[in-house]
Amino acid sequence: MTDGKILVTHISESDADEAIRKIKKVNEKSGPFDLIIVYSVSCDEIAKINTDGLPQLLIITSHENDNISESKKISETVTVLYNFGTYRLANGITISYLTYSSEILQEQKDTILDNFDKIDSQVDILVTKEWGIPISDRFGRLSGNDMIDELAKKLQARYHFAFSDEENFFELEPFKLNNDRLSRFLNIPKYGSGKKWAYAFKMSVGDNDDEEEPEPTNLIANPYTNITKRSNKRSLDTETEGLVEQSHNPPSNGKKSETKKIRTILPTNCHFCFSNPNLEDHMIISIGKLVYLTTAKGPLSVPKGDMDMSGHCLIIPIEHIPKLDPIKNAELSQSILAYESSLVKMNYIKFDMCTIVFEIQSERSIHFHKQVVPIPKYLVLKFNAALDRQVHFNNEKFTRNAKLDFQCYDSYSSKEYSDVINNQSNNYLQFTIYETPQSNPKIYLATFNASETIDLQFGRRVLAFLLNLPRRVKWNSPTCLQTKQQESAETEKFQKAYKDYDISLVES
Ligand SMILES: [Zn+2]
Repeated sequence: MTDGKILVTHISESDADEAIRKIKKVNEKSGPFDLIIVYSVSCDEIAKINTDGLPQLLIITSHENDNISESKKISETVTVLYNFGTYRLANGITISYLTYSSEILQEQKDTILDNFDKIDSQVDILVTKEWGIPISDRFGRLSGNDMIDELAKKLQARYHFAFSDEENFFELEPFKLNNDRLSRFLNIPKYGSGKKWAYAFKMSVGDNDDEEEPEPTNLIANPYTNITKRSNKRSLDTETEGLVEQSHNPPSNGKKSETKKIRTILPTNCHFCFSNPNLEDHMIISIGKLVYLTTAKGPLSVPKGDMDMSGHCLIIPIEHIPKLDPIKNAELSQSILAYESSLVKMNYIKFDMCTIVFEIQSERSIHFHKQVVPIPKYLVLKFNAALDRQVHFNNEKFTRNAKLDFQCYDSYSSKEYSDVINNQSNNYLQFTIYETPQSNPKIYLATFNASETIDLQFGRRVLAFLLNLPRRVKWNSPTCLQTKQQESAETEKFQKAYKDYDISLVES
């Protein structure tokens, strides 16, 4: 049995040059290492940097294409691992990795679990972007994903590295997994955070693994046992930042009371609430009495024809509500519709475009909003086919998702439609198709049960297919994300175009 010396680092593309230079220094001073693992959200630039003098380098990163588990050898010593999978080094060390954020984990759940189901042995190192839930809780952090728990328990890695906290270093005391295997968990922040962004350790290589490692004195109980049921409740949430609310069940018969945690997003942490100090206010287009309008982060659509901006925007109630009650929130509903039709007018008159609006009405949402996307006239007729295709995928391929069955209505005032939306026990996905500002829109609505998992990207997926923009399904993909300057520029263009239609200017 021999020891392998390994260095795990976290860098971002913008600092890649500098960081690789630092890694070379670390390798000279504390190495030489047998293996260096570089975690980076994207890696086009990193792959071009000269890594001469470094040992075997594994770059673990995301790829903008869907569902690809891929490894690519780009030089004698450098290999890039994309998205998720398991990689075995020549010396026998195995590394499993999963770079998706919670939102995409949920979307791709089947594909990912299928991939890891094929692994029938333990691995040495697990690299994930996200944390598991029990460890996240332990540090009082507010994120975590139950799929990471599943993987951690299944793969039984000796080291688990996570990277979602880019600013802080965390290390959990060692613990023993079910089979008595010693395991450690760490979160490595980014180079430039001022924290420990490179972590060096030795690991025995060979069949005997950790047999000879003495038991650490600071051993803690396996964090993955005794997990509260809470994790099931939140499989729909993708916005995982928020405050933990605790409720205590009354103790019965002197038994210890169980604490059940439910996560709720409070307005100070909500992406869409004005009371959140981190609100992205450079993206606000217009603020009305009850509603405001922003450009979309990582917009789906791209400039087309006369339109020199993406045109994708969000209509958001100022009040923090998960779902719209058309009776209780009648004034708000009217306001939202007024914004909607002002946008439909702008798209049609100014840019010769039709408009599609999509939304999720669910008691388990965080802050209700509608997404508005301009669609070229010649494509709007193909909406039905695009929807059918995605429904087919959703219902046949992603079997863990709620089955969707869309009903079509001829107008917002149709009685059948009102019956569905006025019933507050209904949760639903909805598309509204506006061919012109004058004609009644066509509404496609599918209800689902609040306990079912739905594909939160379904709306975006349908429109990305319709617009033939397959790389733009995910708002947070490198293709879609914009810099703050680009976002501000988009918002300015939007404001300029929307000026003549802006109803906040005429609202009392
Ligand atoms: Zn909110």
